[in-house]
Amino acid sequence: MRIILLGAPGSGKGTQAQRLVERYAIPQVSTGDLLRAAVARGSELGLKAKAAMDAGKLVDDSLVLGLIRERLAEPDARAGFILDGFPRNLAQARSLDALLHELGQPLDAVVQLEVDSAELVRRISGRRSCADCGRVFNLLTAPPPSGAAAICPKTGAPHRLMQRPDDNEATVAERLRVYQEKTAPLIDFYRSRGILRSIDALGELDEVTRRLMQALPPAAGAAAAARKAPKVKRASRRPPVRAARRRRPATRAAVRRPARRKKAPARASRKQRPAGPRPRKSGARRRTRRR
Ligand code: ADP
Repeated sequence: MRIILLGAPGSGKGTQAQRLVERYAIPQVSTGDLLRAAVARGSELGLKAKAAMDAGKLVDDSLVLGLIRERLAEPDARAGFILDGFPRNLAQARSLDALLHELGQPLDAVVQLEVDSAELVRRISGRRSCADCGRVFNLLTAPPPSGAAAICPKTGAPHRLMQRPDDNEATVAERLRVYQEKTAPLIDFYRSRGILRSIDALGELDEVTRRLMQALPPAAGAAAAARKAPKVKRASRRPPVRAARRRRPATRAAVRRPARRKKAPARASRKQRPAGPRPRKSGARRRTRRR
């Protein structure tokens, strides 16, 4: 399953992508996260990107394309990926086409998350993320949980909430302007290819996830739904602590990967199997890959 989430800053691409990672077991590839990681490392690329990011402008296409090319070449992206924040202009979309053609991995869908601008500003001002695991929260719409779920899977301590430096008022206004000018034309670009789906991204997180999954191609949607809602009998046998652990992303901000799924031997015992529902039959997986 190879999809693009398209939408303005604050439309919920990152949050919804994190949810799809868990359901489809494919990685989220966020150019924003990859760039922030490069900035945090102080790499040459990070230094070049920082000024544009701080000003709410787009980073140079060649830098971003280099990151994407490298990331999509990693083994976990072979099963599919969720692109979040890329492409962001027509030149990037055309380069992505060429790259995916080269890799023999065409896109399955582009989903546009629609949110009005007042709500975008409100959401961005409440956005916080954990400095350690990168999980995104929102003080207004998705506050950090309490109790055991408030623990960062990376450090074992409570999440350290930070506000992104480019989430200030002036930069946000510029990011929204740049979105309208450079990124919004991609809506027509993908619509003309027949792979664009638009969903209303206002409302409860779970409801938006449901709309998003409905908008995705049916074969992959059915597989993920089965993974999310295993048979009641099996679910009730699973110790609750394991179920809770499955829902938490055990990943880094820059490169969120799904939990590694072992190739199970033909008759694996319950203990050996990964925590999720049974892997699909190999025939089913092959069918999904060929799409
Ligand atoms: P947003 O919530 O604004 O969509 P992101 O985390 O996706 O934020 O990106 C943060 C910043 O990183 C952008 O404002 C931009 O400067 C830079 N950036 C991210 N993705 C791209 C891209 N595909 N092309 C150019 N710049 C990008």
